[in-house]
Amino acid sequence: MNILGRKSTKVLVAAALLAGLSSASYAAEKVYKWKLATTWGPTLSPFIDAPKNLAKMVKKMSNGRLIIRVDASNKHKSAFGILDMVKGGQYDMGHSASYYWKGKDINTLPFTTMPFGMTAVEQYGWFYYGGGMDLMQKTYKKHKVLSFPGGNTGNQMGGWFRKEINSVDDLKGLKMRIPGFAGEIMAALGSTVTNIPSGELYTSLERGTIDALEWVGPGMDIKMGFHKVAPYYYTGWHEPGTELQFLVNQKKMAKLPKDLQEILKSAIKLSAYDMYVQNYHMSGVAWAKIGSDYPNIKIKTFPKSVMDAMKTANKKLLVEKTKGQPLLKEILDSQAAYQSKAREWTKMSDYLYLQDNL
Ligand code: CA
Repeated sequence: MNILGRKSTKVLVAAALLAGLSSASYAAEKVYKWKLATTWGPTLSPFIDAPKNLAKMVKKMSNGRLIIRVDASNKHKSAFGILDMVKGGQYDMGHSASYYWKGKDINTLPFTTMPFGMTAVEQYGWFYYGGGMDLMQKTYKKHKVLSFPGGNTGNQMGGWFRKEINSVDDLKGLKMRIPGFAGEIMAALGSTVTNIPSGELYTSLERGTIDALEWVGPGMDIKMGFHKVAPYYYTGWHEPGTELQFLVNQKKMAKLPKDLQEILKSAIKLSAYDMYVQNYHMSGVAWAKIGSDYPNIKIKTFPKSVMDAMKTANKKLLVEKTKGQPLLKEILDSQAAYQSKAREWTKMSDYLYLQDNL
């Protein structure tokens, strides 16, 4: 009895171990295949590099258990439909800019950038430590989508214009591609505002569908050739720290094992940071030789009268747009409060340092 008993126990233990091992190895081998849709064309560096780097990192970190296929805009043909496609589950993930769907949900707008708002580093402080992430998840909850910072362009240039802007009157009737809240400001000052996907920007400017456009900064702009038709290149006011966004379908995220969820979140943060640095590098390199390589480009800043009119319109629009929009007001108030706090330190640190070292 004793011998048999011990034998039976041994058999049972061995069987249990085998069962445990096989279920563990089954779990380790399960491969999750995801699809990610981006707003960007297949070669649009560094924007397209953020999701591509994410996919590479996730594959290595998960030992091949999470594979993400990145579809550029030429594949899905819906550059500005990323939120809908992730929400509807056609895609598990997306990479785009939150302000592109301000027409569907105005509350998503401030998570990209605001005119006269925070710089990239101030905004990262707000997102990760100043309550920004909570407000972003609260906003996207109704779309059943999770949203994460997806890479920053830093301060953007004010755009390319065919003609010099000398007064507010020069903005009247101007047809300009400019998204986000800045577009609302330009419209308030009499411009006709549109948004156009990156692949159609040059043609629209060349054919005169638009008179002016803003895109990003020298690293990305010069390759597009805008200077050939619109040589006046203005400094920025409208997108001081443009953050792109990674979107994840909430249900799909919940179905991932916990370790893959953590791998995905870590890779999102790392690829976003990498895009921020890459874009800064690209612009630094392009700017260093802009004068010698493109002597026809005329670098300008908007006259004070134009900047003052933009600031006045901004203040007025902020009041108008937040009427009856408690969540939008909550987000904008949170950003403004964080900005005024963080800006004091920016002045004491970077601003004073640069003043003495330029
Ligand atoms: Ca822009």
